Amino acid sequence: MKKRSLFIILLFSCIAFYGQNHTHQGNLALSYPNIPGYLSLKADLHQHTVFSDGNVWPSIRVQESLRENLDAISLTEHLEYQPHLEDIPHPDRNRAYHLALEEAQDHDLLIVPGSEITRSEPIGHSNAVFISDANKILNDAPETAFSEAKKQRAFVFWNHPAWHAQSPTGTPIMSDFQKERIKNGELHGIEVINSLDYAEESLALALEYNLTVMGTSDVHGLIAWDYTEKGDHRPITLVFAKERTLPSLREALFAGRTAAIFNDLMVGRAEYLEPLIKASVEVLSASYIEDTAVLELELKNICSSDLLFENQMPYTFYTKAPIFEIKAGETVVLRIKTLDILTELNLRLAALGAYTAPKQHPVISWKVKVM
Ligand code: ZN
Repeated sequence: MKKRSLFIILLFSCIAFYGQNHTHQGNLALSYPNIPGYLSLKADLHQHTVFSDGNVWPSIRVQESLRENLDAISLTEHLEYQPHLEDIPHPDRNRAYHLALEEAQDHDLLIVPGSEITRSEPIGHSNAVFISDANKILNDAPETAFSEAKKQRAFVFWNHPAWHAQSPTGTPIMSDFQKERIKNGELHGIEVINSLDYAEESLALALEYNLTVMGTSDVHGLIAWDYTEKGDHRPITLVFAKERTLPSLREALFAGRTAAIFNDLMVGRAEYLEPLIKASVEVLSASYIEDTAVLELELKNICSSDLLFENQMPYTFYTKAPIFEIKAGETVVLRIKTLDILTELNLRLAALGAYTAPKQHPVISWKVKVM
């Protein structure tokens, strides 16, 4: 055992806080508040290891995810693309999942069994998660692979539909194959964010075809090298689930209760993005500057995304520009010229880093009681 892990275990058994679990979390930890009625689970359901074309062992994926405080991951190895097969023969295509499960057993991380169904365009790549046996999904006919995934009650999403290697214009092309899968109930979600790429056109397709909005890292190397060393976080899907369990996670994905998040970019349906951003900002205080009608608000951003806002109220600001930022974890003071002395303010701000449809930002309202 590594000295560092031993130290962490000793530390936490001393304060007897985490019970049987221990943590690897550092200051890289992602945090988003829950929304009314649901827990906000942080998931990355598209990752690779040496069991397809990734470069790391499955245990590393588990450890990386714990450092970023994720709630759920899936190792979605390409079923059909296996460049390391001669070095690492593995007749069982569920092997990466089992190794991840083993690594995660002393940790509070949900491991979702998954696989990537891989074809050239127009079929492209799709992930099937919550599968029961990857071996059975491996099939020459893509139609059979999808129908088998459905038989296993899998949640299936279309990966990087805007990928320029498959769509040279960098915009997604919904083919008859995808339309047929949607009609058959075999395709349920779409990545609007994949690694560094965000496609507004994919969000438009999600809304048009009622597909669940997904964001994933699709990591092949190290999360540290691709993201955290650059000061980024990996893209994630926030899943709004009733409980922190696999069945709840699955239910929420099928119900479309998600948002895709990559650093300061937040993408999703208004009904989930609005309460998320609302819960992400706490009003710490609200009082008038003595003998004035200038209301001073102290706002704290408690989520891991920097939030960019634009004033949507009839009142103007005393000091700030109408567009201002609250960095993750930080506090700002707004001075609002309300003209009359109010006992309650309807604080209304457009969230400019968030999209509920292409070029459309949610407007968030907070009822603020003046002290
Ligand atoms: Zn992939």
